[in-house]
Amino acid sequence: MSETNHDPGQLAVENVRTLAPYVPGKPIEELQRELGLTDIIKLASNENPFGPSPQALAAMQRAIADTWLYPDGSGHVLKQKLAAKLGVSPDQITLGNGSNDLLVMLAEAFLAPGLEAVYSQYAFAVYPIAVQATGAKGVVTPALSADSPMPLGHDLRAMARAITPRTRIVFIANPNNPTGTWVPAAELHAFIAAAPAHVIVALDEAYFEYTEGLGLQDGIAWLREFPNLVVFRTFSKAYGLAGVRVGYAVSHPSVAGMLNRVRQAFNVSVVGLAGAAAALDDVAHLSAAVKAAVEERARVAARLTKAGTRVLPSAGNFLMVHVGEASKRFDTLLRRGIIVRPVGNYGLPEHLRVTLGTVEQNDRFLKAWEA
Ligand code: PMP
Repeated sequence: MSETNHDPGQLAVENVRTLAPYVPGKPIEELQRELGLTDIIKLASNENPFGPSPQALAAMQRAIADTWLYPDGSGHVLKQKLAAKLGVSPDQITLGNGSNDLLVMLAEAFLAPGLEAVYSQYAFAVYPIAVQATGAKGVVTPALSADSPMPLGHDLRAMARAITPRTRIVFIANPNNPTGTWVPAAELHAFIAAAPAHVIVALDEAYFEYTEGLGLQDGIAWLREFPNLVVFRTFSKAYGLAGVRVGYAVSHPSVAGMLNRVRQAFNVSVVGLAGAAAALDDVAHLSAAVKAAVEERARVAARLTKAGTRVLPSAGNFLMVHVGEASKRFDTLLRRGIIVRPVGNYGLPEHLRVTLGTVEQNDRFLKAWEA
């Protein structure tokens, strides 16, 4: 390195220089290194504690032998399977390296300096990053108040009011991460119906599988009605495949065509394609994991509430809790080998987000919490 004061990083474009990077959950290995602990549980990244289906594991192991080849850049097999399952045409599907990849592709394809994207305060952290990287303006609408029936949730009326002739995307996470909150299907339907034709509604359904019975939408069923709707789903959560990075967007074919223009040629790996395709066949594994998370969501929330902790309503595989001095509580839990997620970066320094683990993991967390 030369000894000048010249900082080449400062050559980056202003909207990137001023961007706050994504803060991931603390990895288990990092806590091992820091505190020398061995028995650690991670309840910090909304992963599925039951892992992938054994069928998906076997398919991925077989696929490793093919990793000297590039993957099928069109993801033909996985798209065919998804299309059949979802009742859409394969040309409506775009595959991504996680759904994060697809959110970035949407921003790249539809935003530029001078244009705007709308999202709610406390919405998933990738939206502002994806928007700002394009040079477009992120318009943040205030969340619902802490004492509303859906505390800190998206306020669709405020979001509708924020739409201008320059708006090209409105991001809605339903349910949202990190809050866990949601907007009911009827309200969301009315919002999309009223959205002007120059706006793409990006409906992020990363936690779709966990929402049954709570009155949320199946956005894919609305695609016929709304050509400007794009629905995002992922294999990272309920399918237990976060580590191989596979997500998909379902949209009008012409929108899929635009995403395909900015998509990296081989954005989903050989192993990811094989694992996701096999995971779709194991319906029993999926429903067992979802059932366990839904049961634990109710049980853990009730226990926390009983202990005097305020818990936000959640339609995901995680709970957002109010703790006051969250960073202190986070450190105390770390020392007991339990990693949860601080959300100060969301402007919520008094909350923690806790992913639902197995019954044993949750009991360990509850015991530490109650102590
Ligand atoms: N959307 C939401 C609401 C999320 O919580 C996440 C993961 N934290 C994602 C999208 C992205 O997940 P992935 O890239 O693993 O599909």
